[in-house]
Amino acid sequence: MDTGPARTSYDVAIVGGGHNGLTAAAYLARAGLSVLLLERADHVGGAAISTQAFPAYPTRLSRYSYLVSLLPDEIVRDLDLDIALASRRTASYTPYLHDGVPGGLLVEREEGEATRASFRELTGSDEEYDAWRAFYAGVGDLAAAVAPTLTSPLPAEAELRAAVDPQIWADVVQRPLGEAIERRFRDDVVRGVVGTDALIGTFASLHDPSLIQNRCFLYHLIGNGTGEWRVPIGGMGAVTGALEAAARAAGAEILTGAGVSQIVPDADSPDGSGGAEVRWHDGTSERGVHARFVLANVAPWILQILLGGPEDEATKPEGAQLKINLLLARLPRLRSGADPAEAFAGTLHLAERYGQLEAAYTAAAAGEVPDPMPGEVYCHSLTDPSILGDVPPGTHTLTYFGLHTPASLFADDPEATKALAVRRALAALDEHLVEPIDEVVLRDPDGTPCIEAKIPQEVEADLAMPGGHIFHGDLDWPWASARTRLDTPAERWGVHTDHPQVLLCGSGARRGGAVSGLGGHNAARAVLEAR
Ligand SMILES: Cc1cc2nc3c(=O)[nH]c(=O)nc-3n(C[C@H](O)[C@H](O)[C@H](O)COP(=O)(O)OP(=O)(O)OC[C@H]3O[C@@H](n4cnc5c(N)ncnc54)[C@H](O)[C@@H]3O)c2cc1C
Repeated sequence: MDTGPARTSYDVAIVGGGHNGLTAAAYLARAGLSVLLLERADHVGGAAISTQAFPAYPTRLSRYSYLVSLLPDEIVRDLDLDIALASRRTASYTPYLHDGVPGGLLVEREEGEATRASFRELTGSDEEYDAWRAFYAGVGDLAAAVAPTLTSPLPAEAELRAAVDPQIWADVVQRPLGEAIERRFRDDVVRGVVGTDALIGTFASLHDPSLIQNRCFLYHLIGNGTGEWRVPIGGMGAVTGALEAAARAAGAEILTGAGVSQIVPDADSPDGSGGAEVRWHDGTSERGVHARFVLANVAPWILQILLGGPEDEATKPEGAQLKINLLLARLPRLRSGADPAEAFAGTLHLAERYGQLEAAYTAAAAGEVPDPMPGEVYCHSLTDPSILGDVPPGTHTLTYFGLHTPASLFADDPEATKALAVRRALAALDEHLVEPIDEVVLRDPDGTPCIEAKIPQEVEADLAMPGGHIFHGDLDWPWASARTRLDTPAERWGVHTDHPQVLLCGSGARRGGAVSGLGGHNAARAVLEAR
């Protein structure tokens, strides 16, 4: 734990040391501002960290977030970040059983003949693949229009709408995504592969009238204009490490073990410049500093509590994902006969047929753990073995991300329900394996399997993400509608709060969701314009 702050007053205090807080700290300190970053945990990174999850093995897994798409190359260049993101050889592989006969739908990263042949084998013709190509070409145009605007003030919705095919705009932005999926595709497996991008980190039916699933879909497809999800070399901790190094090198002060308990806007400042007071307890004593601007890397729901508001359960976000990290003695064999090194390199979909996704949502909304459990796995170490450390040859990591397990499911009996959810998640994988996954999971010397699972309640306890919501709350469209107020820099950058000196600087900012640095970048740009 660090000791107290070096000064009593700063240009900027940042509450939270997630990757967005670090991004803002690096930009602002580089611009010559005095910056104090306060982090409650004993390390920075928030949900973007690597950990030695299994004591007997040196492997450092990305404990929570694991793939990067939305971090703009521009931020990496601006901050001279030493970050390497590697392409996966496979985009996705979806094992299926048709009348008991195992098969698999392969989508290569660079779609070619193997992808076309795989669609043909599943659907009997080229029609579905042609529909797929047409849909994603339109989505690609939308991504190419939106991506360059993410590091600028909010673009006008009308401007972006004019840049793309009206049908794609209607399908992705105006009508529940399920309608487009059902109209454009016939096959349940193909429909499901399209639909999952709308549900990662979002608890909704694909027909939800709120369109939260559409917004989630859009974010999953726009990163750097391609929507490609890449593997952070060295794990997520390497991304955070590069940002922390950039922030420190620029002169930002970082205090860990500093859980902020109060933000008081309009506090009297030593120089009469306005601003806010930030208070925390460092384990031994109360501390406080004054800052002209306070950037909240914490979720908006937490921010309103720090500002003196109530802990309002009615407005608290709710996460819905199950994250499991596994260490394997070797990759399991697939019943389809596909090469595991190809199938597990990309996103391997489990129980994510369209009908299964909708049924799982209905079950979970009614309070039941879905059976089968929809989710997806991917093997980091196939693309980046550097995280393994000194382990026996053949060892691999496996990352599972489960959908439709809202926090409320675990409320009454967290331990038993978690055990059930993990069993169902692994059963969905076992359905497609030659031997059960249990046979290839490594064990600690005492026989404990190397399986670490996190339900939303644990994500909340570990990271202070309210309700365990991985985006700090529901995602917003990344543009301004005709009704959006754009009077101040904070409003124009999508980072405003009710207090002019307090700005959002995290996943909860408009455009902030996921590992992107956008919440931090956009808050920093707003401060630099407003000062
Ligand atoms: C299981 C899981 C898997 C995910 N997978 C992916 C993925 O593969 N790819 C992707 O792009 N995104 C993924 N996400 C989402 C992504 O990780 C987050 O959206 C992103 O990391 C949020 O970053 P942040 O800096 O805004 O906030 P956070 O990472 O939440 O950091 C906020 C920081 O604030 C600190 N804090 C909280 N309260 C206080 C306080 N009172 N005082 C001081 N400090 C405080 C916290 O300790 C934390 O360090 C995943 C998230 C989870 C949980």
